[in-house]
Amino acid sequence: MTDLTTRLVHHAYQPPEGFQAVPPPVHKASTVIFPNVAALRSRQWKRRDTYTYGLHGTPTTLILEERIATLEGAQHCVLVPSGLAAISLVGMAVLTSGDEVLIPDNAYGWNKAFAEAQLKAWGVHVVYYDPMNPQDLAARLTPRSRLVWLEAAGSITLEFPDLPALLRVLRSYGSAHRQGLVAALDNTWGAGIAFRPFELGIDISVHALTKYPSGGADVLMGAVLTCDPQMHDRLMDTHARVGFGVGANDVELVLRGLPSMGLRYAAHDAATRELALWMQSQPQVERVLHPALPGSPGFEAWRRDCTAAACLFSVVFKPHFSPDQIDGFCDALRLFKLGYSWAGPISLCAPYDVSKLRTLDGPHPRALVRFSVGLESVSDLRQDLAQALARL
Ligand SMILES: *Cc1c(COP(=O)(O)O)cnc(C)c1O
Repeated sequence: MTDLTTRLVHHAYQPPEGFQAVPPPVHKASTVIFPNVAALRSRQWKRRDTYTYGLHGTPTTLILEERIATLEGAQHCVLVPSGLAAISLVGMAVLTSGDEVLIPDNAYGWNKAFAEAQLKAWGVHVVYYDPMNPQDLAARLTPRSRLVWLEAAGSITLEFPDLPALLRVLRSYGSAHRQGLVAALDNTWGAGIAFRPFELGIDISVHALTKYPSGGADVLMGAVLTCDPQMHDRLMDTHARVGFGVGANDVELVLRGLPSMGLRYAAHDAATRELALWMQSQPQVERVLHPALPGSPGFEAWRRDCTAAACLFSVVFKPHFSPDQIDGFCDALRLFKLGYSWAGPISLCAPYDVSKLRTLDGPHPRALVRFSVGLESVSDLRQDLAQALARL
C-alpha cells in the first residue's frame, strides 16, 4: 500500500470490538482524568501514548496528525487553528531577538504582515529576497540569518521557484558559517501531492489544512510538520505556551475531507489547466500565470519537480484595460464568486494590484485577477468567463 491517496483512506486506527465503523471517533476534552496522584505527577504531556490535557492532544487530534504527516512524508505534526497560526508558530519557535528571517517577496501576504508587525517588534530583522534568483538569496544571507521561508508556487503571481537550487544555497552558506539555518516551506499549494517536500531537504513544512485537506470551505486549520525530533520538540513547547489548540469538531471536518483529497486535487488540476489555456487564447488577455503553462515563470522547475498543480491561475489583462474595467469584469462573473481562499467547492476570483503587495522592485502588474477553480462543470465556468470577457 504505497499510493498516497490509498493511505489517506486506510489508517492504522482500530475501532472498538464489535463496532467496525470507518470514521474515527470525535473525542472532546479539556480535562483528562488521572487514576491517581502518581500518574498525575509522572505523565509527560509531550508523549503521544498518554494524555494529560485537551490542549496537548486527544486520540482524535492524534489521528489527524498522523494522517497529515503521512500525506507530507514527515515524521511529526503539530495542529494549529489556521494556516497563518502555523506560520506564526514557526517564527515564534525558531527566532529570537537579533535573528534574521528571510521571506520570498511573493510570499503569502499575512506571512509578511506577521513578520513586519510582530517579529520586528520582537527584535527580529526581516529581509525579503527574490525567490526566482538563488544568487539573490545567497547575497542576502548573513551570520544572523536563522529562518528562511520558501513558498511554491508564489502567492498571487504563482512563480514556481527552483527549490533544490535555493536549498543548495542555504546548505552551502550554513555549512561554511557553521550556522543552523532552518528552511521552512509553505506547502499549502503542493499539499503533499504535487511534490515531496521533505525529499527536497526542507526542515519544516507548514500546510493550511483550510484549503485542500478540508476541501469544504467551512473550517480553518493548519499543520506544522518536520522529520527532526528536536525541531518537533521546540514546536511542541511553543505550541503549548501560546495555546494554539484545535477543536475536535474541526478536526472531524478535516478527517472527513481527507479521503477525497487526492481525487479533488486531480479534478481541480485538470479543470484549472483547461481554463488557464482557454484564457490564454482570449484577445483581452496579455498573459496567464500558472506553473504548468509553458512560458509562465518557473515552468521548467515545476516540470522537473512536480507531478501535479493546484487550482489557481492568474490573468494579466492587456494594458489598455483600466483597473476599474478589470473590477467590472470581476463583478460581471456569476459562478466565480468574489472571495479569498481556495481549494473549496466554489470557484472564486479577486483582483489585485501586485505593485502594492511586493517589497522589491518590479515590474509588477497593477491589475491582475487571481482565479481559484472549484468543482463546477468546466464548460459552465468557461461560459461564465466568456460572458464577463464580452462585457470588458
Ligand atoms: C490560505 C493560506 C494560508 C493561511 O491559511 P489560513 O488557514 O487561511 O490562515 C497560508 N499560506 C498559504 C499559501 C495560503 O494559501
